[in-house]
Amino acid sequence: MNATSVAVAIRQLSKRFERGNVQALETIDLDVRPGEFVSLIGPSGCGKSTLLRIIGDLIQPTEGSVLVNGKPARQARIDRDYGIVFQDAVLYDWRTVARNISLPLELAGVDRRRRDARVREMLELVELTGFEKHHPWQLSGGMQQRVSIARALSFSPALLLMDEPFGALDEMTRERLNNELLQIWQETGSTVVFVTHSIAESVFLSTRVVVMSARPGRIAGIVEIDLPQPRGPETRESPRFAEHITEVRRLLRKGHADEAIEGDTEVPLYVAEEGL
Ligand code: ADP
Ligand code: MG
Repeated sequence: MNATSVAVAIRQLSKRFERGNVQALETIDLDVRPGEFVSLIGPSGCGKSTLLRIIGDLIQPTEGSVLVNGKPARQARIDRDYGIVFQDAVLYDWRTVARNISLPLELAGVDRRRRDARVREMLELVELTGFEKHHPWQLSGGMQQRVSIARALSFSPALLLMDEPFGALDEMTRERLNNELLQIWQETGSTVVFVTHSIAESVFLSTRVVVMSARPGRIAGIVEIDLPQPRGPETRESPRFAEHITEVRRLLRKGHADEAIEGDTEVPLYVAEEGL
């Protein structure tokens, strides 16, 4: 594939943390096409966040390269090609919801009138119209996370990077936000790279699921999710959904089997964790 027709091109990427002497990622190769929704899934500590941070130019790889829209990650960050959402909403409590969402626009020097218009649009998108004057501490966890998604989307980023954004929420809220996120993804047409440790979440949301193995993080396999769009509650009940879940789970186990061969004695609790 031509590097410029790819949203994210990861080549021979490795990351070693000197502190703790950890080989977090080893020779990762991955292309993400424009408009794709790609999830990274794998056991805790396998390097999902590290990979996402390298894509977002928050940390540097030890070896290899990342191109975003055909340019180095550093340039993509300068060009504001990214919106990033972390597990914790990281909102400013002293700012209202509206002013949290408008913060990146303020920093970029966007004028007041355009900022206000954009904030109104974003509030509508995440269904929080009417809450603009609230403060984050007056909102539920799910609502806070929607504010942080609205903030990440305020720039219409070409690439949305999300690191377990719904990990701290209860299952019902998570499913609702999954539906909303898919709607937003379809409306905005952006590319999403999404980190999760929930098999069901990865299958429900993604066009492709990248399964990672533990220490050092490698790609154990990739599952194409061919569930029809738009997806909804009925998707979760379809036989194909269950088949994809089985496929992902198998690859996760395979990742653990490799690990066991390498002499790791830790019990792979992860695969059973979800009880699916
Ligand atoms: P995941 O997100 O899949 O749970 P991480 O990417 O956070 O995993 O971490 C991968 C590995 O790298 C872990 O062993 C972790 O302890 C280590 N690690 C992550 N960040 C740092 C850091 N800043 N310094 C040293 N080690 C780190
Ligand atoms: Mg992580």
